[in-house]
Amino acid sequence: MTLNIKWLGVDFGQCLMDPRGLRNPLMFGEIMRDLGRPEEIAERIHRYRRMKEKYQNYSLMKEGHRPEIREYVFGNDDEAWELFSEYEQRLLMPADGIAETLAWLREQGIICDVVAELKKTLGPIGSDHVTMFLQRQGLSQYFDYFYSPSGRVRLSDGKADFGCQGKDKTSGTMYDYLLEDLARRGINIDECAIIGDKLSTDIEPSRRRGFHTIQFTGYIDMGPSEYAEYRVESFPQVKEFVKGVK
Ligand SMILES: [Mg+2]
Repeated sequence: MTLNIKWLGVDFGQCLMDPRGLRNPLMFGEIMRDLGRPEEIAERIHRYRRMKEKYQNYSLMKEGHRPEIREYVFGNDDEAWELFSEYEQRLLMPADGIAETLAWLREQGIICDVVAELKKTLGPIGSDHVTMFLQRQGLSQYFDYFYSPSGRVRLSDGKADFGCQGKDKTSGTMYDYLLEDLARRGINIDECAIIGDKLSTDIEPSRRRGFHTIQFTGYIDMGPSEYAEYRVESFPQVKEFVKGVK
C-alpha cells in the first residue's frame, strides 16, 4: 500500500534521535567525576530515576521537563547542568539511516518538519537540545521547521514565531494547530503523515485528526494500534511505501 504525502512530521525522542548510547551510570559517572564529586553519582542517578517514574519515560521527561531536571536532579548546579547537556549531546546518536532517508524524502518533494515536546524558551538555533542535536548531526538542512510548545523555528535562518506556543502533542492541540498551519502552507491533511514512537502522543491524537501515521519501533515498540497505519523499525523502510504527491 502506497502512502502519497507532501509533508512528514518527525518526532524527536527515540525516533530521529537514538538514545541507546545514553546510559545513566556512564553519563552521571562522567559528569560527577568531571566535577570532582564522584561520591554524588549514586544520588544523582537515584533522583533522575525518580523523575523518570513520575513522567513515565525519559523522552517525555527530557523534552518537557528540563527545568525540573536542572533543579531536582542537580540542585540548580550550573556547572553540572552544562555538563549534562554536553554529555547528552555527545552520547545521543541519530537514528540509523536517517540522513539518507531524509535526503530521499526531500528528493520526492516531501517537506519534513520536526514536531517535539520542547518546553523551554526558544533562543537562537543551537541553544536548545533539539536544534543543537540537529545542527551537530548535520540534519537541520533536511527540515523546514521545528514545531514545539515553545514556538516554531525556521531552521534555515532561526526565525521564530509563537503561534503554537502552549500547544502540545499529548492533549492533541499541537495537531489542531498543525492542521491550520499546514493549510496556510498549502498542504491538505490527507497529504500529511506523522512518524513517532509513542502511541499516546504521536500516533493516536494525530490519527484522530486525520493525519496519516507511521509508528516507529526502532527503540521502543509500544505494540500495535488501530491508529497506526504503518509500522517501521528503521527509517529507510519508509522508502518502501512513501511517495511524494506530484
Ligand atoms: Mg518520541
